Amino acid sequence: NINLRLVSDFQRVECSQFVLHYQPQFSLSSQRITHVEALIRWQHPELGLLPPLQFIPILEESGGIEKVTRWVVSETVRLLQKSEASFSISLNITTRDLVNDDFCAFVHQQVRNLEASRLVFEVTETGIFEDSGRAQQNIKALHALGIQFAVDDFGTGYSSLSYLNELAFQEVKIDRSFVSKLLTTNRAKAIVRSTVQLAKELGLNVVAEGVEDKATLDSLASFGVDRIQGYYIAKPMPEEELSAYIS
Ligand code: C2E
Ligand code: CA
Ligand code: CA
Repeated sequence: NINLRLVSDFQRVECSQFVLHYQPQFSLSSQRITHVEALIRWQHPELGLLPPLQFIPILEESGGIEKVTRWVVSETVRLLQKSEASFSISLNITTRDLVNDDFCAFVHQQVRNLEASRLVFEVTETGIFEDSGRAQQNIKALHALGIQFAVDDFGTGYSSLSYLNELAFQEVKIDRSFVSKLLTTNRAKAIVRSTVQLAKELGLNVVAEGVEDKATLDSLASFGVDRIQGYYIAKPMPEEELSAYIS
């Protein structure tokens, strides 16, 4: 069983075989790359380069995810501190991290020599409401440090934007499933257009993910989306390529 194998491999090697790839986000107002999203891969010596969906859900189940998230935070902080270019990094965190009070202390310590607002924590819409009380307290505490928060996969769950606005969220990421159908179905178009409009009225930034062509980008720009992420701009790339890409 591959899942059991990955859990036991992780117990042995922990985060030492992980790598982060970075996918640029293009800001439509400044016409430059202002953010990148950190996306994890496992460079497994026997199984090859594993995509996150092959091991992240398993490590969430087995309890290993907290170590993974901490590793991602420390790697991204290291990259921001050594880079000459000024950009921000979005990274994916889970509810399991947010219900853990030690996570706040860990992040606090990590960002002591960094402008904390250069980190954006993406939390999925379904994740946000799993443990309301504790998670929301910790989101507020992290936001007080300067960390920005984005709702990931927006549109796939049940939350309302006005409610998210009362929490410490500054950003909404519209899920790829809507973006990819934007030009072919009126339903997707209506959802995206009205989400962007409401988000803007609430003062939230809007990022669209999964943009694969110019026509979709143009349409999103006309709705007022702030940033574009997707293969049309660039695919996720290793750190060495990123430095060349944004300098
Ligand atoms: P996500 O947060 O929704 O990330 C976007 C995914 O869409 C990435 O897949 C990215 O490579 C892919 N993508 C970006 N642009 C395009 C496009 O134009 N077309 C298409 N078809 N796909 C595009 P990836 O890297 O395989 O990550 C999958 C998921 O794994 C992420 O979805 C996220 O939920 C999770 N993940 C990735 N890294 C981490 C991490 O460090 N921690 C945690 N907890 N989860 C992570
Ligand atoms: Ca994400
Ligand atoms: Ca998504």
